[in-house]
This record gives sequence, C-alpha cells and structure tokens, in this order.
Amino acid sequence: MREYVPSSFDTNALAAKTRALNVLVIGAGLGGLTTAIALRRAGHNVTVFEKSRLASEFGAAINVPPNANGILLHLGIDATAAGAVEFKWFTEYSKTGDYVRVNDFAQRSRGWQHKYLLAHRVDLHTQLKDTATSSKGLGPPVELKTASEVVDVDINNGTITLKDGSNTQGDLVVAADGIHSRCRSKLTDQRPNPSGHLAYRFMIKKADALAIPELVDVVEKTGELVFWFDVDRRIVMYPTRNDSILNFVCIHPDQGTVGLDDTWNGQGNREDLIKTYEGFDPRALRLLGMVDESTLKVWRLMDMGPIEKWYAERFCLVGDAAHPFLPHQGQGGAQAMEDGVSLGTLLPRGTDPSEVPARLKLYQRCRKERAEFVQEVTRQSGKNIEPGQKNNIAKVMKFFDYNCGHDEYHHSLNELRKYQFKEQAKVYWRMPISFGPYPGPRQDAQGHIRETSHSNFITRSIRFKTSRTLLQNFLPTTAYTFLSGDTIAEASYIQTTLDNMDWLGGRGYNYFGFYMHGIQYKKKDGETVVGNYLAVMWEDLTDPILSGREEVGFPKLFADIAVEHTASTYSMQASWRGAGFLKLELNDLVACEACPPTSEDQVFTYKYVPSTGNPGFADAEYPICVPTPSAKEIKSFLQTSKCNISTNAHDWKALPTLHHIVSRLSELPVYEVVKGTVSEGTGVDSLASAYRIE
Ligand SMILES: Cc1cc2nc3c(=O)[nH]c(=O)nc-3n(C[C@H](O)[C@H](O)[C@H](O)COP(=O)(O)OP(=O)(O)OC[C@H]3O[C@@H](n4cnc5c(N)ncnc54)[C@H](O)[C@@H]3O)c2cc1C
Repeated sequence: MREYVPSSFDTNALAAKTRALNVLVIGAGLGGLTTAIALRRAGHNVTVFEKSRLASEFGAAINVPPNANGILLHLGIDATAAGAVEFKWFTEYSKTGDYVRVNDFAQRSRGWQHKYLLAHRVDLHTQLKDTATSSKGLGPPVELKTASEVVDVDINNGTITLKDGSNTQGDLVVAADGIHSRCRSKLTDQRPNPSGHLAYRFMIKKADALAIPELVDVVEKTGELVFWFDVDRRIVMYPTRNDSILNFVCIHPDQGTVGLDDTWNGQGNREDLIKTYEGFDPRALRLLGMVDESTLKVWRLMDMGPIEKWYAERFCLVGDAAHPFLPHQGQGGAQAMEDGVSLGTLLPRGTDPSEVPARLKLYQRCRKERAEFVQEVTRQSGKNIEPGQKNNIAKVMKFFDYNCGHDEYHHSLNELRKYQFKEQAKVYWRMPISFGPYPGPRQDAQGHIRETSHSNFITRSIRFKTSRTLLQNFLPTTAYTFLSGDTIAEASYIQTTLDNMDWLGGRGYNYFGFYMHGIQYKKKDGETVVGNYLAVMWEDLTDPILSGREEVGFPKLFADIAVEHTASTYSMQASWRGAGFLKLELNDLVACEACPPTSEDQVFTYKYVPSTGNPGFADAEYPICVPTPSAKEIKSFLQTSKCNISTNAHDWKALPTLHHIVSRLSELPVYEVVKGTVSEGTGVDSLASAYRIE
C-alpha cells in the first residue's frame, strides 16, 4: 500500500468539533518562543514559563541560515526588519593572516528560497517575544510568565510545578529549557559534558574598526563572515545589526579555565583572550584588543550524544534540551526553531487532546534523525585539524545543502498527512500520485468513505434477445462462458442519469453500458460465479471515466449523451463529436411493480492495464466482479415492450476511436425486445465492493 497523502486535508472541519489545546512551554529561548508562536497560530492556548526576567538576552549574534529564516518568515517574522544582515561573503585566512579563499556566498545563496542572515540575538529574541505575545496575528496571544522557574513536571498528565509550589496542568508540556535542561532528566540520565573547547564571544562597533586603516581590508565588506584558522583554535567574525556591529566567536581548547560553571555567560578576560591567540594575524589581534572587557563573555562548549526518546505521554523536549548544539555550523538555534515549527504543524487546529501522545511520537519521527545528523556534522566540523590536514571548511560547506535546504514546515506537514492517511484503513491512489490519494466516488479528500444513499438515479434499460454466438466473442477469456448452450441469449443497453453526487459537488452525469446476461465465470479452482458481463460503458464526464477505469476496472469511454423523456417516453442519443452512434427509445411506458435485484444481477468485467513501451502486454489484467448492490429506494418503476435500438457505426473518420466497437455492436440482431424499463429512486452504489475474482 502506498504511504503518502493528498494535497489538502480539512482541519477546519475538525476544528469545529474540538477545543483548542492548552500548551505549557518551559523556557522562552529561541526554541520555546518559536514553538509558542507556531502553536498559537494553530489556534491553541499557549503559556510560556521562563525562569529569568528576560531583562536581556545574551548579547551576541547568531546565524539565521535559510532553514531558520524560512521558518521565521512562515511565522510572520522578517529578521532583516530588525537589522539582520545578509551573509554575502565567506573569507578564510590562515592563522597568520595569509589569504586562503573567499566564497561568494550571495551567489551560492541564490539557489535557496530564503536568505542566509546574520542576526543580533537580542533583536531576534525580541521579535520572537513580540510576535508570540502580540494581540495581532493568528491565534490567541501567548501568555509569557517570566521569573517562573519550573522545578518539576509530571510527564504523563501534563502538570508542571513552579518554584513557588504552584501547579498548572495542560494537554501538553513542551520543555524548551535549553542545554542545561532540568526537564530532560524525566526521559534520560544523560547530561551534556564539556566538549574540550571554550568560546569567547563579544561584539565591537564596525565603525571603530573601519577607523583603523590596517583593518579596513578585513572588515569593510558588507555581509562578510571571516575565519582565521589554526589547528586547534579559530576566530570567527561577522557583522550584524544593519552591518554596524562585528560579532566575534573565538573557539579554543579548554585548558582548565577557572571560574566557569558550565553555564552561559561567564565573564571573560581580555588578556587571556589575546594570549589565547598569540601568533595570530596582527589584524585579528588588533580586533580582539578592541573588546570592551565588561562585555567579554566566555562559554564552556558542552556536548551530548543522542538521547533515545524526546517525548512521553504529554511531554516533549525541543531545542538544546533535546539536542544540545555546538556552535560550529550555526545550526543550534535553527534546529530549535525547526522543532518548534514541527510541533505547531503536527498539532493543527482541531487536534483532539487524546491525539497528543501519538503526535509527539510523530514529532520525534519528523525531527530526531535530522537534528542529530546536523548535530553530528557540527561536532565533526569543530574537530581540531590533524597535522598535515587542511581545515574542515570544505567539509562544512558539503553539509550546507543538507542543513540549509530543508523546510521543516513542509516536511512536518507532509509527515502529518502521511500519518493521517495511514490512519484510514484503505485509500485509493491513482495518477497523478504526486498529490496523494485521489478523492472520488468512493472516498473524500480525507480518505473517508463516501455516503451515497441520498444520491438520485434514473435508470432506463432495454433488454433484448440476440445471438449468443456473436455475443460470446466479446468475452475476454475462456473462463467466461454462457450458462446456457442456446444460441439465443439476452443482452441489455442500460442508461443511467445520476444526480446529487457528493463527490461531484452535488452534480451528476449520464452513462450507459452494454451488458450480456446469463454469464458464468469459472475460477481456476473450479468454482463458478454467475452474473452479467459488462462489455463496454460510455459516460459523459471525465472524472467517473478515470476513477471507474482505474479504481474499479470498468471499460469506460467518453460520449456525449443526450436524454429526453416525457411521462411515458424516453429516448437517448449517444454521439462522439457530433456523430450519433446509438439511439435508444422507449414508448408507452406504464407504471408497474419493480422486481428486487437478485445475486445474479452482479456484474463482471475485465480489467486491463497496458504495459508502457511494451505493446500487446499488460501490466495488469484480471477478472472483476461488482456484487449486486444493496436495495435502493425505488420511487417509481415503469415498463414497456415498445422499444427501439438503432446503431450507426459510421466510419473510421467519424468515429476514429469507437468505430471498431460500434460496428461490432451493430452486428447484433435484435430478435425480440424482452422489456424496457425506467426506474427512479435514491441510493447509488459507489462500487466500493468491486473485487478481483482471482
Ligand atoms: C557560542 C555559541 C554560539 C552559537 N551560535 C549559534 C548560531 O550562530 N546559530 C545558531 O542557530 N545557533 C547557535 N548556537 C546555538 C544556539 O544558541 C542554541 O542551540 C539555541 O539557543 C537553543 O535554543 P533553546 O531555546 O533550546 O535554548 P535556550 O536559547 O538556551 O533557551 C532556554 C531558555 O529556558 C529557560 N529555562 C531554563 N530552565 C528553565 C526552567 N527550569 N524553568 C523555566 N525556564 C527555564 C532559560 O532561561 C532560557 O531562556 C550557539 C551556541 C553557542 C554556545
């Protein structure tokens, strides 16, 4: 069975039936706020509990790669409006300042839908916070509770306990409490460990650097990210806030620096900084020397391997709590945002609270593999350069496409669709398959079975006696035979007009078929089944022709079908591009009692799907049976023996695709009309019970 989904599914209909979810988010960092916005936009009530007062985010810059920028734009946030700078140049120097390479990153970025940006963390955080809590925008504003440290979580019933002892319960608790997550311990004993590296972070004004002539070369380009590499340490410098600030990240071995308690935001020392980069390009050292020591921060970079589970019954981890990131590829914040948008997408408006545990499982399926792969690539790209090896820049660039060329919103949406359609026992697929299962007479766009009992039908038929020896030539294999050895057999033209069909938006269409009666099919095991063989059918609408041919295996063709009737007469004219080829007429119709259908009214036909590039061979061919439909509600039934059938096979020019069929039907003599009938009522068989005989 295919695993995929249709292009749309109706969350609005679901929304009307269910209440919004109450979601509690722990932590108002990049991951927590993105999650809150995404869930708010899905219509849920979100409360964020943040332990700090959020007086200020850590003042540093952050890469906003295309995969993160796309999410921000999806959530209505334009980071460039808050001063984020486009990453345009990637320049690399050796430790001593020799020019190694420059990559035109703007050129590289042209293939990405969203720009690669360099944002100020405070600006980005403020944008996220404002968007979350704004009274404008989709969904109810997020309630942000600062100075609200969460000290415990009941991961099965969704209750959190704050430091002041108060409890709050929700349908879902999202722990976005960062690298030193307390909540993570609910799922694993694993904790992050020192990676062996520290990072100094600070910013200087670009104008100050430009004022020093020997620095102009390295700082003047707009949107330029500059690297100085040594085997075990590096300096990364890039601009942000409308190109007015230069941000520095200086990663180097951890030589037991004292005073660091493994948290963010340790105080750095300028002298140590300069000493750490002794022997580096004098321009780099000059830039490092410009730091305002009070703003110099030093981080111990922590790392943690994959954990097995990111979720429990009503609880999940996002961001660094689930997958702490080293900074080497600028993807930690981006992956936290991907987690957030994934949750918002997998829990759309209308999600019932009882569905939360299953959606969390799906969330892990969407996110874990990718986040951990990016985490591992990041880890590898931060490794020291072995003697004789070149630096890892080439390696880093190789993974840029994987990192940046991803849209988690689209990915999660598709995973949700796959999941929702897998929930439906069976759904029909037919071409084009790129858009998921096909809505049709038997299933709606969500894969639900169609209700057809209220649809209307008028069926007219002429049953007549004709030559069995001619008819039998229409049977596709020797497994089909006539029950009787008589040379006179019965056949019918049956025409139906349908109306009030849900799958056609309440509309209808006409069709007619040629049926042979008294047929038996003998299976390979000797068992026989009895019914009527449908040799050909014409319809005046493309949709049922396609669904009937592909899903059921009916031999359907197109014709214009004109129907006229009075209280006691009926006529039908079938034509192709103006060439009438069959006319049926019933006159002097009188009301009488309808006969109930019997099991022998079931219909046989033969499905044949030609093989591409292999004329004369089939990819599929097998006998089909449509069992007798359950009783319809017949409102009126008329009968007559005054019927007329006239055919006109024209020539190949007038009927270029039908001449061979109509000329064969024209050969059939009408020995005697058995009866003509008109029945009208409600209840239309969707043919969902059609099956392959063997
Ligand atoms: C030096 C360095 C440079 C980096 N550069 C980049 C970069 O350029 N690009 C990038 O994408 N990523 C970068 N990262 C990684 C990125 O910063 C993180 O991956 C990202 O911030 C993770 O977001 P988060 O929301 O999971 O956690 P955080 O941003 O750490 O937020 C966690 C929040 O939870 C709160 N909290 C914690 N415990 C509790 C509690 N018990 N109750 C309530 N609140 C609590 C905290 O106060 C905090 O506000 C860098 C990381 C480092 C160390």
